[in-house]
Amino acid sequence: MSAIDVLIVGAGPAGSAAAIVLARAGVSVRMVDRAWFPRDKLCGDTLNPGALAILDRLGGTEGPPLRTGGIGDRVRARALPITGMTVTGPKGAVVSAEYPGSLRGAAIARRALDALLLDAAIAAGAEFVPSLSVREPLMHAHGAVVGVRARGSRDLDLRARVVVAADGRRSRLAFALRLARFARAPQRWAFGAYFVGVDRMTSRGEMHIRADGYIGIAPLPDGVVNVCVVRDRRHWRPDSADIIAAALAADPVLRDRFARATQVSPMVSLGPLAVEAHAAGCPGLLLAGDAAGFVDPMTGDGLRFALRGGELAAQAALEELASGAPAFERLAARRRRDFAGKWRMNRALRSLVASPRGVAMAASVASLWPAPVRALIGAAGDVHLARRAGRYAPPGGP
Ligand SMILES: Cc1cc2nc3c(=O)[nH]c(=O)nc-3n(C[C@H](O)[C@H](O)[C@H](O)COP(=O)(O)OP(=O)(O)OC[C@H]3O[C@@H](n4cnc5c(N)ncnc54)[C@H](O)[C@@H]3O)c2cc1C
Repeated sequence: MSAIDVLIVGAGPAGSAAAIVLARAGVSVRMVDRAWFPRDKLCGDTLNPGALAILDRLGGTEGPPLRTGGIGDRVRARALPITGMTVTGPKGAVVSAEYPGSLRGAAIARRALDALLLDAAIAAGAEFVPSLSVREPLMHAHGAVVGVRARGSRDLDLRARVVVAADGRRSRLAFALRLARFARAPQRWAFGAYFVGVDRMTSRGEMHIRADGYIGIAPLPDGVVNVCVVRDRRHWRPDSADIIAAALAADPVLRDRFARATQVSPMVSLGPLAVEAHAAGCPGLLLAGDAAGFVDPMTGDGLRFALRGGELAAQAALEELASGAPAFERLAARRRRDFAGKWRMNRALRSLVASPRGVAMAASVASLWPAPVRALIGAAGDVHLARRAGRYAPPGGP
């Protein structure tokens, strides 16, 4: 295969976002993925309003996002609108709020979302090679990454001026270069499956926090419901094959709602979830999406980080191509500038809900004084980014 400006490993949301920005900037982009698309991916399947705002920006050509009808609108056309979040605690505490004004998130199966984003990247001019599994980076004698070694129907060396590793949580490239590793704590696993026939579904995403982990529930088009159970290592055994059914049947809030439900997909699991990265790349290589670190899905904003991380990696790649100087440190600084506030908030939320008392306290605050809880649910949904992007109509506005 011919040499290329930027090689992107992984065609998930981070890889496709990076490819769209780069192809639109006129550089040659090749994406590779070990999978054929469409492919499934274990996820809660919800995009928060901030993630949707990025899709509007990525797909737009000119003018304000409302008129351009970009990727965001293509996603909305296939998704269910998500109007807010409901959080329940172990002792019956309930906190529920709508996103402000006209802001919405979207629920769409990752099989459909990722295929849509990949199509947009190809339409923007990126080349895509499926079914090619990257095994290791190719290194220059001076220590810079100059490409990757991959295995498809045969082994292949792919060279590029810049490589973007967007190959997910357990990134081959980031792990091989010791830029990332599994975190010592938390040690959690996720188990997911689709159901139909679930009672009392609303247009809000749901997070049910329990002493042994949490259960995320999201309504999808056609009456399908996404269920993800996340458990600390201490609370499951590798032989617990029916962990989702068992978690639902034992849950006082969910038991009745799932009494007549049918599981319509096999259970998928992955873990350990938490990966920590101590850099955003190295000479010749830039990290994007979960490859640059992941904690757990509790705050439902992984896709926003992945899409924005893809944009930032693309911007750094363009600078590296123009100057010839490594841009990974600049990428790290921009990721800190964009993400540090949200990382802090997510850490605070995680420690709040780690104690049953924290959730109960949030519930009493919510009943007496709902404004801060609404603000928190808005902040978790990155609504300030969506407002800035111009899709926001205030309550009672025109
Ligand atoms: C249980 C669970 C629920 C979640 N729910 C939500 C949610 O509701 N909302 C939300 O915003 N976020 C959620 N997240 C987080 C979200 O799924 C991730 O943050 C997001 O998928 C990251 O996108 P990515 O492009 O970085 O990686 P991925 O989506 O993982 O894509 C990586 C791609 O790289 C490819 N790849 C991997 N290794 C190789 C290799 N060696 N060679 C070639 N290709 C390779 C894979 O095939 C894949 O296509 C959830 C995560 C989990 C685990």
